[in-house]
Amino acid sequence: MIDLIPQIVPLADQFNRPITYLRISVTDRCNLRCVYCMPEAGLPWVAKAEILTFEEVAAIVGAAASIGVRSIRLTGGEPLVRRDLARLVARIASIPGIDDIALSTNGLLLADQADTLRSAGLRRVNVSLDTLRPERFFAIARRPGLDRVLAGIDAACAAGLAPVKLNCVVMRGQNEDEVVAFAELTRKRRVHVRFIEMMPVIDNAALQRDAYVSAAEILDRIREHGMLVPVAGPNGNGPARYFAFPGAAGSVGVISPLSHDYCETCNRVRLSADGRLRLCLFGDNELDLRTPLRSGASLDDLAGIFRGAMYVKPERHHLDLGKPASAMRAFSEIGG
Ligand code: SAM
Repeated sequence: MIDLIPQIVPLADQFNRPITYLRISVTDRCNLRCVYCMPEAGLPWVAKAEILTFEEVAAIVGAAASIGVRSIRLTGGEPLVRRDLARLVARIASIPGIDDIALSTNGLLLADQADTLRSAGLRRVNVSLDTLRPERFFAIARRPGLDRVLAGIDAACAAGLAPVKLNCVVMRGQNEDEVVAFAELTRKRRVHVRFIEMMPVIDNAALQRDAYVSAAEILDRIREHGMLVPVAGPNGNGPARYFAFPGAAGSVGVISPLSHDYCETCNRVRLSADGRLRLCLFGDNELDLRTPLRSGASLDDLAGIFRGAMYVKPERHHLDLGKPASAMRAFSEIGG
């Protein structure tokens, strides 16, 4: 019998890496000012009219899904400051082909929204948390709120979002002495703590050079305290390597973009809040999707732009201590 269902060629880049994962920044605004991420005064925000509407985001996701993108992560800025985010989650969840929707948040507004987001179709959540001490939280995030973040993590677990991952950027002299306390959380709680090497961007180059702590050092500190065994880790799309204390409920991961290259397994592209398709977190290669979208581009037209972008996606990034590899001032500009 003749197969009448058209076979799509799934998206892959010129290095034959399948691209199945789209990270979407829904806003460049944030309600924290983490020292490694954003100046205290904030950044020049993108004008509201330039930010994609939910309908525009959904049109782009529809095009991406039509050529094989399966996983979506909503990020920012802080995605939970975008009003009615659950409406976007529900819209994306209804797009055929999308089988995984995740959220990256600083957790400040999560306690109030976890249930609604889960009902809308959110599956899992990453919460950023760099310290377990209130005074340090204020020093790092330049705003108070540790208690609200912890309540957000509890609410995410209670709402059935899983896995719940905690992302911790480790900085010398600020929180590197807390890695064991973070790792200890995983013994009893089904949470996955991921330690992230600080990455250089234009605005944090000096801090990054001076406060960078490698994943190897982080793992050594934890191993001095207790044995870690390599584990498969929770489901996800990411570059983390996972370990666990024997018998622990959760796991410990490291994300090491500087000391341990993982570009060869890159499966992702990023969409900025103002509609630029970014091909590498650390490279200025990007394509404008908003202009064609607002000029009436069809789903096929948008899918064609995605395919063209595959020839622009670089093979790898070139990060070095204190040396930003792109013109990006902060992750919030394109979604970290
Ligand atoms: N506001 C959300 C959050 O806190 O998860 C989403 C956006 S935030 C930019 C995403 C992640 O990027 C956070 O875990 C944050 O700690 C991390 N991040 C920001 N700047 C970074 C840098 N220079 N190096 C490493 N991680 C960074």
